[in-house]
Amino acid sequence: MPMNRMKQSVNRMNNIADLIGNAKNVAITGHIRPDGDCVGSCMGLYNYLKENFRNIAPDVYLEKPGNEFDFIANTDNIRYEAEAKIYDLFIVLDCSDLDRIEPFKSMYDSARSTLCIDHHISNTRYADVNVVDGDASSTCEVLYRLLDKNLVSKTVAEAIYTGIIHDTGVFKYSSTSVNTMQAAGELMSKGIDFTSIIDNSFYKKTYVQNQILGRVLLESVLFYGGKCIFSSVTKADMDFYHVTGKDLGGIIEQLRLTDGVEVAIFLYELSPSEYKVSLRSKKIVDVSKIAVKYGGGGHIRAAGCTMYGTVHDIINNLGEQIEYQLEKA
Ligand code: AMP
Ligand code: MN
Ligand code: MN
Repeated sequence: MPMNRMKQSVNRMNNIADLIGNAKNVAITGHIRPDGDCVGSCMGLYNYLKENFRNIAPDVYLEKPGNEFDFIANTDNIRYEAEAKIYDLFIVLDCSDLDRIEPFKSMYDSARSTLCIDHHISNTRYADVNVVDGDASSTCEVLYRLLDKNLVSKTVAEAIYTGIIHDTGVFKYSSTSVNTMQAAGELMSKGIDFTSIIDNSFYKKTYVQNQILGRVLLESVLFYGGKCIFSSVTKADMDFYHVTGKDLGGIIEQLRLTDGVEVAIFLYELSPSEYKVSLRSKKIVDVSKIAVKYGGGGHIRAAGCTMYGTVHDIINNLGEQIEYQLEKA
């Protein structure tokens, strides 16, 4: 990033028109392995700019999202690969640190200005301007606050509502607030089919997704007196069921719901000795702190990182951190 760029944190309410300023060429991206909040916020902003800012040509760059998000308007305009294009403004949504915007980091670096809109407590405030609210349920909720409510169409509402339901587990995680419900109510008033969005993008599972969920639950192990639970999936298992990481959403939540459990851990193998780690807690343990220690990030009750070694070593390392926090509590 050029040295002369001023870093700014925007904590007060602001609006997207001010944040965009005079920028004409605008790019939007989110994090790797995009989830509902990432796709919802990127497409919500993309569609809002397209519909309301006639002199802005937005482009959206993301890894291909899961098919459950195909209903969101214009997902077929998503660009999957970096291009040698220099943008006036590069906007990063739902992403706590720059390592997670690969393969689009070079485009971010060459942009004339950058803006980050996010809700991760671990956000490193990497952009020129950072609109980060660590207490918000979702990036979609933070984004919605920045929009002119009268200009939010049904199409934009569908995308933003999707992000909110995904990051709140359909309005139940502790990050859900009165503001979240207020925003959701206003989005409903735009005439969205919320029942279908919730069923088809959040709860619906394919047959193989259910099979692998069943297997993960069957093989799960309780430890630390039943306060922790973990399970893992190898690359070979994933190949057997023809699933990818995208198909494993929701598994960690089922582990977390286990009676008596404070912390749930789910690992899936990315490559030999490399695991994607998901951490969830109920009331006591700050899993974001643990994820940050291993180069990841997230929120107090939901975080993730990538770890190396055997499943046994990874669980031992995480177990130590969890035990430390539980003993202090
Ligand atoms: P996940 O377990 O992948 O669903 O992630 C839970 C939360 O932690 C999400 O908000 C993610 O954005 C965040 N997260 C997951 N993995 C990482 C990582 N490697 N670095 C930073 N944040 C992460
Ligand atoms: Mn996300
Ligand atoms: Mn999010």
